[in-house]
Amino acid sequence: MKLSDIRATLQEIRVSPVKTLGQNFLHDQNLARWIVDQAEIIPDDYVVEIGPGLGALTELLLEEGARVLAIEKDTRLANFLHERLNHQRLEVLNMDALKFDARVLFSRRRVKLLGNLPYNISSALLLKFIEYPSPISLWLLLLQREVGHRLSASPSTHDYGSLTLCVQLHHRVQYLRTISPTVFFPRPEVDSALIKITPRDPLELPARDDELLMKLIRRGFSQRRKQLQGLLRAYVSDWNAAAASLDFNPKARAEELSLNQWIGLTNYIAPAVHAQSDALGDELFPVVDKLDRILRHAVRSEVHGDNLRHRAVHILIFNQRGELYLQQRSRCKDRHPLLWDSSAAGHVMAGEGYDEAAKRELEEELGINVPLKKVLKLSASPQTGQEFIWLYRGEIRGNPIPNGSEIEAGAFHPLAVVNCWITGRPEDFAPGFIECWKAYQKKARDSEIVI
Ligand code: SAM
Repeated sequence: MKLSDIRATLQEIRVSPVKTLGQNFLHDQNLARWIVDQAEIIPDDYVVEIGPGLGALTELLLEEGARVLAIEKDTRLANFLHERLNHQRLEVLNMDALKFDARVLFSRRRVKLLGNLPYNISSALLLKFIEYPSPISLWLLLLQREVGHRLSASPSTHDYGSLTLCVQLHHRVQYLRTISPTVFFPRPEVDSALIKITPRDPLELPARDDELLMKLIRRGFSQRRKQLQGLLRAYVSDWNAAAASLDFNPKARAEELSLNQWIGLTNYIAPAVHAQSDALGDELFPVVDKLDRILRHAVRSEVHGDNLRHRAVHILIFNQRGELYLQQRSRCKDRHPLLWDSSAAGHVMAGEGYDEAAKRELEEELGINVPLKKVLKLSASPQTGQEFIWLYRGEIRGNPIPNGSEIEAGAFHPLAVVNCWITGRPEDFAPGFIECWKAYQKKARDSEIVI
């Protein structure tokens, strides 16, 4: 839309731009097209646009063939956009984007997020939609230049800080260009920046405990001018040895450490994830016959390598809203690394019963101890990886504390989201979970009770 069209439209629909909603409308059509070009839209794309306003970017996205979900808080603009574009590939949601449940997007194949964000909440919106794990494969955001610099900063610069590392831990950030206030109506007081964010390959950076890493980073940047050696004394007892082994100056301040050095420092003080999983290789499992009677015991590598029948437990944990907690399996698992799975799951060990194993796995993986109800048993089959599986369920208040060395990530999901996600992207899930979930739902339907 040209500047004259924007003025005329606003007059016609009786809207004067609201500062608290960051209503600065883009009127440079060449720039709008260039921005949309950076999203490299293909017709299969599902684009979520935050704050479409009068549709400067929306109509170009539709022209490129994308399906667009436009989330607009201002009812007058949402209604206008719906009527003006009236397109079968456009859905306009009139709501606060901060309240949108981004997990529903897991059921879509290729999701991109684009927005000329309202300034006053741009960081909050960014952090909400960038939360890891995320179904989004590309973020293209217009936000304040200063925030753009902080997101894309390099070590030893003024802008480099905990926001930089928090975002760069799972994403790559590109500062595409600075954008002048003159391209908006009304003109904002500051420059903007166009930022492109893409997810990192989860295997690109070394395995680590993200929670511990972020704790170190926050502490390290809590007093930027101070040396890390004093700030992190409680965590790192032999600071000089750590600095020598990770190749940084023992007098370094937080901004001098690269992301890789922060990860190195985390792994220096945490038990190494790989060493732990290697140690698990010697665990003994009962090998069973087709009626689940114990024949003998064997080590994990033999049981999995020779496809022997063995025993496992899966636990489904629900919160008070009835949402299911899904875990993403650790990258170090010998089977199905990084796929999504039951809330907790694991093998029954030698000398252990199913109930004992369920209680232990729940504590080890999620740090919780709640009463568990036995729901159903699945027979060993190729779909379960030759495991006899007892499925349990439990409920908790609050959130589990996932064990970073066992689990990559985890989150609660509404059941409708879980079902759409399994239908849309079955390859994201461990086959054992799909079998358990199918059987669980069937039992819930057949017994017509909440189990
Ligand atoms: N995309 C349009 C453009 O480029 O011309 C408008 C961008 S304007 C900077 C920001 C838009 O976000 C406005 O339409 C505003 O009403 C909308 N908005 C503000 N807060 C919002 C929120 N919490 N959720 C959704 N939209 C919001």
